[in-house]
Amino acid sequence: MTNAPVPPDYARFDDLLSDEERAVRDRVRSFVNEEALPLVADHYERGAYPAHLTPRLAELGVLHHSEPVVDGLIAHELERADAGLRSFVSVHVHLAGSAIRFFGSEEQQGRYLPAMARGELIGAFSLTEPGHGSDPGAMETVARPAPGGYVLYGHKRWATNATIAGLVVVWAKLDGEVRGFLVDRGTPGFRAEQIERKLSFRMSVSSELFFEECFIPESQLLPGAKGLGAPLRCLSEARYGIVWGVAGAAEACFEEALRYSLHREQFGRPIGGFQLTQEKLADMYAAVVQSKLLALHLGRLKERGQLHHTSVSLGKRTNVRHSLSVARTARTVLGAHGITADTVSLRHAANLETEMTYEGTDEVHALALGRHLTGLDAFRG
Ligand SMILES: Cc1cc2nc3c(=O)[nH]c(=O)nc-3n(C[C@H](O)[C@H](O)[C@H](O)COP(=O)(O)OP(=O)(O)OC[C@H]3O[C@@H](n4cnc5c(N)ncnc54)[C@H](O)[C@@H]3O)c2cc1C
Repeated sequence: MTNAPVPPDYARFDDLLSDEERAVRDRVRSFVNEEALPLVADHYERGAYPAHLTPRLAELGVLHHSEPVVDGLIAHELERADAGLRSFVSVHVHLAGSAIRFFGSEEQQGRYLPAMARGELIGAFSLTEPGHGSDPGAMETVARPAPGGYVLYGHKRWATNATIAGLVVVWAKLDGEVRGFLVDRGTPGFRAEQIERKLSFRMSVSSELFFEECFIPESQLLPGAKGLGAPLRCLSEARYGIVWGVAGAAEACFEEALRYSLHREQFGRPIGGFQLTQEKLADMYAAVVQSKLLALHLGRLKERGQLHHTSVSLGKRTNVRHSLSVARTARTVLGAHGITADTVSLRHAANLETEMTYEGTDEVHALALGRHLTGLDAFRG
């Protein structure tokens, strides 16, 4: 395939970044191009997370939280490879890690966060249950007080990373209030099973969790997490990363389609010379530029402590929609070639179907925006 010129950066996105931000972005991009991308297609097909990349992610310094725009750029670059790779980091750092950073005791922070940053301990975060996804406040998992701690009973589903994690942050009701519990791997009464047969997020580990008379010592309760607002605050951190990540997936799809359109000839000329293809390229390019600018704007707001969770809903919903549309359009440019694992857009499109749903569905974020705009709560019909 010919090397198309790098698409001109009309929005001058790079000028909006500091030297340090560009340096981190370039470092993660090199890792993605040289070490992650070559193995993505194979691992995706096999439905396996490439665990040997974890120490490299730690060396790159992406297994702990950074400044908001740096975090965003990392998410963007990782998802250029695959949403599963971005999600591994996102759940580890921004869900499990944030729960401990925001709500853990000093002792808990010292015990878990350094090991997590070194990649020696992987984190997972378990809120969703088989019967309660969009409405986690209705969760049935409970913690009952017992001498020296609590006993967990319940059934959770869809926790990313959990079967490979050393720690799962589990949300359960204690006397009717949602609380967070740090559940170490191997705790008696706790079992995690991998969810198989996924058609999306195949390079990510998704798990089902069972708690049967699972004793958790008092020292494993997150003291600062009281009520559903606690897990929702962590989710807002991770959703912010999705705003950036999906823009990376879209960029990868667009660039592949552009390259292919200049190389592939039909009717005696490159398909990129047809007006219909150019309209697709123009639409995809516009969506990528808009998504990146929105992500960066939200990142700058976050740096100033001005990022409202409704703006995160706006960003997550808007950018996932943009990116899914880009991935599907890019796939059409690739023709039949686009349905193979030698190309990226169909894989990204399949991943984006998950991203439409997880960390708040498209509909739930519409309801959050609707409530903000009207002052009327439509969550319960
Ligand atoms: C690959 C993957 C990884 C995940 N990782 C994690 C994880 O690490 N930790 C974790 O806790 N969870 C995780 N999840 C779960 C995810 O957050 C849930 O799937 C999500 O919250 C939606 O819940 P649900 O699938 O039960 O759908 P449901 O809530 O049953 O929704 C089904 C449909 O009904 C719609 N709907 C629901 N309520 C309303 C309403 N009030 N008005 C209009 N429409 C409505 C939804 O928008 C959706 O279209 C993951 C999911 C996937 C697929």
